[in-house]
Amino acid sequence: MRNKRLAVVILAVCATAMAPAQTPQSGAAAADAPPTRADILRGEYGRYRANNDLLYYHLDIRVDPERKFLSGKTTIRFRMLQDDTRIQLDLHAALQVDKILMGETALKYERELGTVFVDFPETLRAGRVYSIDFFYSGTPLETGRFGGIAFRKDASGHHWINTACEGIGASLWWPNKDQWRDEVENMDISVAIPSDLVDVSNGKFAGKSELGDGYTRWDWKVQYPINNYDVSLNIGNYQHFSDRFGDLPLDFYALPEDLDKAKKQFAQAKGMLEAYQHYFGEYPFQKDGYKLIQVPYSGMEHQSAVTYGNRFANGYLERDWTGVGISPRFDFIIIHESAHEWFGNSITAADVSDMWIHEGWATYLECLYVEYMYGKEDGLKYTNAYASKVRNRQPIITARGVNRTPPQDQYFKGALFLNTLRSVVNDDSRWWALIHDFYQKFKYQTIMTEDVVKFFNDRTGMNLTPIFNQYLRHTSLPELELKFDPAGGTVAYRWKADEAGFAMPVRVGTKDHWQLIQPTSEWATLNTRLPKDEFQVATDLYYITVSKL
Ligand SMILES: [Zn+2]
Repeated sequence: MRNKRLAVVILAVCATAMAPAQTPQSGAAAADAPPTRADILRGEYGRYRANNDLLYYHLDIRVDPERKFLSGKTTIRFRMLQDDTRIQLDLHAALQVDKILMGETALKYERELGTVFVDFPETLRAGRVYSIDFFYSGTPLETGRFGGIAFRKDASGHHWINTACEGIGASLWWPNKDQWRDEVENMDISVAIPSDLVDVSNGKFAGKSELGDGYTRWDWKVQYPINNYDVSLNIGNYQHFSDRFGDLPLDFYALPEDLDKAKKQFAQAKGMLEAYQHYFGEYPFQKDGYKLIQVPYSGMEHQSAVTYGNRFANGYLERDWTGVGISPRFDFIIIHESAHEWFGNSITAADVSDMWIHEGWATYLECLYVEYMYGKEDGLKYTNAYASKVRNRQPIITARGVNRTPPQDQYFKGALFLNTLRSVVNDDSRWWALIHDFYQKFKYQTIMTEDVVKFFNDRTGMNLTPIFNQYLRHTSLPELELKFDPAGGTVAYRWKADEAGFAMPVRVGTKDHWQLIQPTSEWATLNTRLPKDEFQVATDLYYITVSKL
């Protein structure tokens, strides 16, 4: 009995470890708990981060798989925005700072938890560009859903080392300015590994050189802004194959035993690219190419190097993810994680609290993919199936300046909210132009929810702020209250919502004969011949609750 129970516990743990990139990392209680000093150090964009602007990183490391040991350096080039003598960088406490140099000068530093404050002997001047070399070494902590950085072996006994560190942060395994607001402009990644292994990182492959000691250095060039958690190592016994989508090089990496399955499954990348380019414009990282890389966890949106662990099968981990028969038509991980190339990687939230800009939009892009491939009706069916996953227990947008992943409603409720917004705009050709132009305006930038709201307000001429606020900053859905007066042949209606001034049009009546009404928080009346049980509300177009009295 005890063994059986233990087995159940182990199964549950494995299921969590294999959770998709879009399921929550922790329970609601943890997100409610007061922030720790570590959460604030990581999350806050304080003085010693705000005083500089990142220009360039060169991550140059050696990975010893046998010892699970990293050593190397990050060269960090930055422009000072204020005169100051200190900057804030980050490196997990499990790793050692060997030295930090500016030219030949060794810099002093102070460590606090995962933060490294670097002090300069003279004031750095606003407007000037500086470069430092941050040397480090050690055995990184394996932690988090996907291991953060995990030293595993494949079934044939080859080393298989992968990083996936969103949430815990890239400073888990390399020194950097570990926050979201300031993305480096471009980056070089050099990874020295035993010569029988392959490293696939982000950007364009820039060559490899044998180092003469049994190690080979793999060089990768990232030619676009990149957020830290996207920077990745994928070291293994990879086989490579390639294809093209127009001018875009497609590069695929899989283990030898899975090569045939990968060749078949990864062909879906083309349909994905076609659909997303249709709605948003060119794939954002054209010069770096698009890559899919097999990994031993479900998947992650690493920029231009999407990692894939969905068992070469449609659906999500061989399940009908949304439960309405549409998910089995495509590979969830290819479609979801690649959507982040547009939303998450190209457009990035400036603060983790606004992560719905990554996940709400990427989930909505899945819905658009379904609409593009299978038509509007299936798109709506897929979108609304996500309602069963929404909890409505906490607002989607959480406290700013704290390193806490928002609740999972950011995915499903986020997508349902965007579908609602489309119905509010109530003109599909206008909607397509809006979301296209929204992406184009903010691509390669870090933004806040306020930027999204302002864009949609300006472009529609509508005041959508209360609608954004109700869905993103409150817990409950707006409730359409209906009060029927059969004798008078009328129905009274109003919104019940947390957000003051909440008003939103909605379609009511019958499915083949919708009537658009404009409820506010005040009662208004509509003539109707429909009895209460036949009077419908278009809840597939607007994510709301309805009460009939
Ligand atoms: Zn995602």
